[in-house]
Amino acid sequence: MSHENPLHPNPPEAHWGSATLGVRACEARSEFGEHSAAIHATSSFLFSSAEQMAAVFAGEQPGYIYSRFVNPTTRAFEDRLAAMEGGESCVATGSGMGAILSMCLALLKSGDHILTSQTLFGSTMGLFDRILKNFGVEVSYVPSPDPQAWRAARQANTKLVFVETPNNPLLGLSDIAALAEVAHEGGALLAVDNCFLTPVLQNPLALGADLVIHSATKYLDGQGRCVGGAVVGDSKTVGEDVFRFLRTAGTSLSPFNSWVFLKGLETLALRMKAHCEGAQRLAEWLENHPAVEYVYYPGLPSHPQHALAKRQQKGFGGLVSFDVKGGRERAWQVINGCRLLSITSNLGDTRSTITHPASTTHARISEEARQRAGVGEGLLRVSVGLENLDDIIADLRHGLDA
Ligand SMILES: *Cc1c(COP(=O)(O)O)cnc(C)c1O
Repeated sequence: MSHENPLHPNPPEAHWGSATLGVRACEARSEFGEHSAAIHATSSFLFSSAEQMAAVFAGEQPGYIYSRFVNPTTRAFEDRLAAMEGGESCVATGSGMGAILSMCLALLKSGDHILTSQTLFGSTMGLFDRILKNFGVEVSYVPSPDPQAWRAARQANTKLVFVETPNNPLLGLSDIAALAEVAHEGGALLAVDNCFLTPVLQNPLALGADLVIHSATKYLDGQGRCVGGAVVGDSKTVGEDVFRFLRTAGTSLSPFNSWVFLKGLETLALRMKAHCEGAQRLAEWLENHPAVEYVYYPGLPSHPQHALAKRQQKGFGGLVSFDVKGGRERAWQVINGCRLLSITSNLGDTRSTITHPASTTHARISEEARQRAGVGEGLLRVSVGLENLDDIIADLRHGLDA
């Protein structure tokens, strides 16, 4: 069965911007003509005869079979996200980690090598270090963003170059175009985890990347309701290879969660604009606060890669990290002073959240890996939500001014 969507054509127009794509691209409509997308809560699909069923199974006729493979609601989300990322194909998965796992297991084999950076989402590091290793996949962590360092670390068996940009939690950047060149020279693919910026603020495929990873859990949902993920890329790598893995391995996304994400895409452009504005103002305020040692935000001229951020991104994102003076004790004091900000690890929500990475998202990796990643005891990460910024600042003041 092919991964195309013959039942719901409705392709976006070439001149549409990201807001229009998010609202309109690949609208899936049933015979009832519903205006807002329906949820197709069904595990399997009917056929009119044995002949038709055999033809659909053989891929000779279009049609849905079973929701582990493809479901119309999931398809609508996949098609719209692919359109927004400028990719030919998208495969939605049950979580962001499920997307990274599906990509790796579909495209790598024992003896292959992954080249990645030292600062990564904690679970991604755990997947590479503790799980893929057991299947004979090697991984190296490049200590510097300099493309020359990546070129030097590339091996003959490097099949995948993987980056998050901006990365979690220090918001360091990777030069996507330069790393695409490094990957392609060595016959490897470049995958970019675009979770922090979304297709509204960054289009890795247009910059030369081969694959885009999403944790839809974050900004694509945008309201902290569902866990999900996606892999976007070309029709061979994603549409055939990753899809073939997913339909057999069952890392699929549920129709209900797909519908939530589809609705999330409709407000994504508007939300990202507000998240960026709030984060910029918060970062500037924090930079002038005497209790703050250092602020990590790509929109600040003091960010070492501010020029790269301006070149490859359409905005600086909604996350701000900062080191407070006084280590863990002071960092926890800031968290415990919050009445408005949510003490939780999620990000990309309408509600602002605050996290202490060293004791939470990055607690399960080794002390050495944490140091390598630059995650110190005084580090705090704030995901700026959609509340009034004055209220967010007033809340952070409780712990910071103490
Ligand atoms: C959250 C996150 C993931 C993992 O996504 P889940 O949906 O939680 O599985 C991967 N990468 C980044 C950058 C993330 O923030």
